[in-house]
Amino acid sequence: MALRPPVSGNVINGLGEPDRRPASTVYWAPDPDDIPHGAMQKWFYTVDPGHPDFAVERAKRTRINATPLPDVAATSQDVGPDGWRQLWADLVQDATCDAVGAATMSDDWLFEGHTVDLPRIIVMAVQHDYDQISTAPAAQAGAEVMRQYTRAAKAAMTLAARLREMGWQSKPLTGPMAGAVAMIPAAIAAGLGELGKHGSAIMPAFGSSFRLSAVLTDAPVPLDQPQVHGVDDFCASCRICEDACPPEAILPEKQTVRGQEKWYVDFDRCLPFFNQHQGCAICIAVCPWSRPGVGLNLAQKYARRTAGQSNGRNSSSTEA
Ligand code: SF4
Ligand code: SF4
Repeated sequence: MALRPPVSGNVINGLGEPDRRPASTVYWAPDPDDIPHGAMQKWFYTVDPGHPDFAVERAKRTRINATPLPDVAATSQDVGPDGWRQLWADLVQDATCDAVGAATMSDDWLFEGHTVDLPRIIVMAVQHDYDQISTAPAAQAGAEVMRQYTRAAKAAMTLAARLREMGWQSKPLTGPMAGAVAMIPAAIAAGLGELGKHGSAIMPAFGSSFRLSAVLTDAPVPLDQPQVHGVDDFCASCRICEDACPPEAILPEKQTVRGQEKWYVDFDRCLPFFNQHQGCAICIAVCPWSRPGVGLNLAQKYARRTAGQSNGRNSSSTEA
């Protein structure tokens, strides 16, 4: 708390601002000296997390991210929609990642000061082990987050290399450091979830128990559509994460943030607890969608309910 800067993270993040503007990096800056919360970010790395895997996974991720990518092959190979989808299926089949989606890249997802010159983004999700993440906020859960960030980095590097070998430009984006692109809105546009009240994406198969990485590319990959499985409605009448968050950082109502109304986590409340508890992750672990099998059941119930409402509307219009 002593390292908090005079400026609120919520102000940096644009809470209450009515107009659209690019997001600013509040935390996880590649160079912490570039941001007001840099001293807090550095503190995170000075504390012994109490689990050896933190150091092991950080070292692995550094090695992965430093691996040189191959040059782009001279001839571009377009394998068509089925071929690209087969490539995604292969990445899941060999456990490189657990889900893949693609979207047209949007400037709306860029952090301020960044540009990208590649037109599409492929987003990959890697799922946490539920038994591990459900120990949050213990260091055991933080270690699982680190393991999945490593896996996500490897997935992005693997796909970026593959695309280059096929003659397409590619640029991997890996976390947890913020780069050019905000991953969550890109993932949602690529069909990998909806925004939950706790500020993370939720998808039926994994709940919010997953991490993301991505690849920017000019490859003509098939695009996915945002999915609606009732998460937004569900969050409106659920307060499990709100109640479970020790510093009460998860706001009960949507807020206006840089011209958009959305669920919001109070950065100034979350960060000190997050820092002191190896990345926390309580809100991800307690979300009912994250429990194995539950998210899929909730999505099926939502689909049945919306189909029933639509049938009801159809039959009443026929009767009329
Ligand atoms: S715990 Fe409930 S309110 Fe929070 S994100 Fe999950 S479903 Fe939404
Ligand atoms: S990470 Fe922890 S402190 Fe932050 S919002 Fe989630 S539960 Fe609250």
